[in-house]
Formats: sequence, C-alpha cells, structure tokens
Amino acid sequence: MRTIYFDNNATTAVDPQVLEAMLPFFQGLYGNPSSIHHKGGEVGAALRLARQQLADLLGCVPAEIIYTSCGTESDNTAMWSALRTQPDKRHLITSRVEHSAIINNAAFLKRLGYRVTEVGVDREGLLDLDQLRQALSPDTALVSLLWANNETGVLFPVEEVAQLCSEKGVVFHTDAVQAVGKIPINLKNAKIDLLSLAGHKLRAPKGIGALYIRKGLKFSPFMIGGHQEGGRRGGTENVPYIIGLGVAAKLAVERLPEENTRVKAMRDRLEAGLLKIPFTRVNGHREYRLPNTTNISFEYIEGESILFHLSHAGICASSGSACTSGSLEPSHVLRAMGVPFTAAHGSIRLSLGTTNTDDEVDEALRIFPEVVSKLRELSPFWKDDGPVQDSDMLTCEDNNCQVCN
Ligand SMILES: *Cc1c(COP(=O)(O)O)cnc(C)c1O
Repeated sequence: MRTIYFDNNATTAVDPQVLEAMLPFFQGLYGNPSSIHHKGGEVGAALRLARQQLADLLGCVPAEIIYTSCGTESDNTAMWSALRTQPDKRHLITSRVEHSAIINNAAFLKRLGYRVTEVGVDREGLLDLDQLRQALSPDTALVSLLWANNETGVLFPVEEVAQLCSEKGVVFHTDAVQAVGKIPINLKNAKIDLLSLAGHKLRAPKGIGALYIRKGLKFSPFMIGGHQEGGRRGGTENVPYIIGLGVAAKLAVERLPEENTRVKAMRDRLEAGLLKIPFTRVNGHREYRLPNTTNISFEYIEGESILFHLSHAGICASSGSACTSGSLEPSHVLRAMGVPFTAAHGSIRLSLGTTNTDDEVDEALRIFPEVVSKLRELSPFWKDDGPVQDSDMLTCEDNNCQVCN
C-alpha cells in the first residue's frame, strides 16, 4: 500500500542529501573537534561551515547559535537561562496554546513559586496582545511564545512582541520549531533574544536542535560541562547531526519559496476539497498561518477514529484532539480557542511538505469523504444525512473538559 504522509509537523523524512553529507562523519571523519591533532581539525572546519549554513537560514551570525539535542532542550535552556540570569524577577508570561515543552516547564516553575501568566487567544487562535501588554511588569523575567502553532499553524506576531519586550527590558524567547524553514526568518533586525528550533522538523534527523542566543544577552548554561559551544553547552558535539542540520538549513533556504507556493497550493486545494464535506470547519486563522498546515474538524465524529481509518487507507495524519488514554479531553489549543465540543472532538491536523504531490491530494480527496460518511453512519450524533437534534448541546463524559463545561 502506498503511504501518503501528511504529518510533517510531527516529524519529517531525512532528506537524502542530508544523509549523504552526514555519513562520512560516522567513519573516516570521526575526530573530536576539540582535539589538537589533524583528525580533530578536519572535523572542526566542517562544523564551522554547518553553523554558517544554519546562521544563513536564521539571518544571524554563527556565534549566536548553540546546538542542543532537540527542540525541547532548546526550550528548556532558554527558559532556565532567562530565570537564572535574573534571579530577582519571579514572573513569566507565555500563552495557553504552547507546546508541552513550554507548558509543562511553566507548570513546574509555578510549583517552585514563580508567577505565570498564560495569555489567551481568540476564536481564530490569534494572540490577545492587550492581555500580554497588561501582564508585563517590572517583575517579568521572560516572555516565551510560539512563533507558529504546531496544531493549527497559526502565527503569533513575535517580532512585534519582541520589540515591546525590548522596550520594557524583558527577555523574549520564541519556540520557532514549526516556523523555521516554512516562513522567512531574519533575526538580524528582530529584537528576539532566544529562538528554539529542532532539526527533525526540517528534514534533518531526530535528536539535534539549536538555540539562537542574541549576541550580548546574559546566558546561563543548562548543560554544564566542557568548553564546547563557547561554554554555553557542555558535551562533545553531535558532529554528524550538526553537519546534517547544516545541509537541511541550506535546503530550507532553497525550498522556502516552494513551501509558500506549491506546498501552500496543495494545502489550500486539500482544505477546499475537504470543506465540501458537510459539517466541516477549519480551526485557526485562514491567512495568518503556516503555508503547510490545516486543522480541520469533521463534526459529530471522533478525530481518533478518522485517523485510524485514514491510516488503514495509507494516509498519515495527526490528531488535533489528542484524546489521551481514553479521557475524551480535546486539545488544549482548540480548547483555548473555544472550539465547540462536536468540532473539537472531530478535529485532525494535516501538515504537508515538499515531498507531497498533487496526486496525493487527489487520492486523499477520494478517501476522505468515504471515511467520514462511514463514521457518521456509525455515530450516535448522526442520523440520515444530518446531526441528530440537540447534538450541539452534547458534552463529553469528562467533567473537567473545558469545552463542555
Ligand atoms: C516538535 C516541537 C517541539 C519539540 O521538539 P523535539 O525535537 O521533539 O523536542 C517543540 N515545540 C514545537 C512547537 C514543536 O512542534
């Protein structure tokens, strides 16, 4: 069976050019870049090139980049550094729709006695800037916001917020894991202090991430050890993966126009086709979002069942309503947007990439209507081509569900 991979926000396939560039660094070029001898030296030069390639993608200088093990480590490093370098400040601001790497850290910090403000979003997932402005105080150590939402693709105005934070002397971090490679980023003129990215979301392997640290920003390392990364992250460099991320960054620069034309066109055609199915809706602002992502609700059926049937037909997608372990709790992102019960539970995320083709979109548009009508026939909320009466009043079995209660 052929696979149609529409889950590029979860992870991407390593690009063959990336893999090819990495392979020599597993065998012949195995030196430790810190070594004095020639085996170390030949690796050092390749590392410098890779760091330059990533800096070119971000519009920064190579010395502003440190490598980490993943997006999550970059997020952790950024948050802890901002707090450790400003020990007198006990407040941080984030949003209600962040990735778990930020949300769960913020929850932990709350238990340590920090004050945390989670700024809300509107029905389209756009940030409540007024609420953010009002939350800023002399006690605020850090504002951390997603650049692009992983579930809906909705963008936050991070450059504007960074400017505001800079005026108030507040450190600003952005989790740009989903944005890098999909939208243009130029850090040279932005007031962003810290930016996280992860290799595996842009065709490099899993297990490599990076953190941009603006020149001159006070920094406290998360991983304390050797002198690597200018003393900002101890541990011998993950050489093959750093090389891979460099090539992936170079390819991302070349493919950025394609992401915003061909990939966007495929996403739009897929979305328009799916919206022809009755009782469907898009979650998130239609314009102000990534070019590759759509979060779409098929009302009166379960997102998880859709995914299961799609997978059976070869289509890989992902749940917008991560109903964890049988609790019917929908995603915190859709909840924060106030998406109603019947829509939140039937939501899925489709995220495309340059590896996708128009044929795959055609095939998906044949498969989806069949899957949806089959599931609606089985749905207790659906009878004869329409929702049963009063089904809009339905709530899930979870008493804590914030959509329903
Ligand atoms: C994937 C992702 C992460 C985590 O990256 P890992 O490399 O899996 O740790 C963080 N933030 C966002 C927005 C993501 O999409």
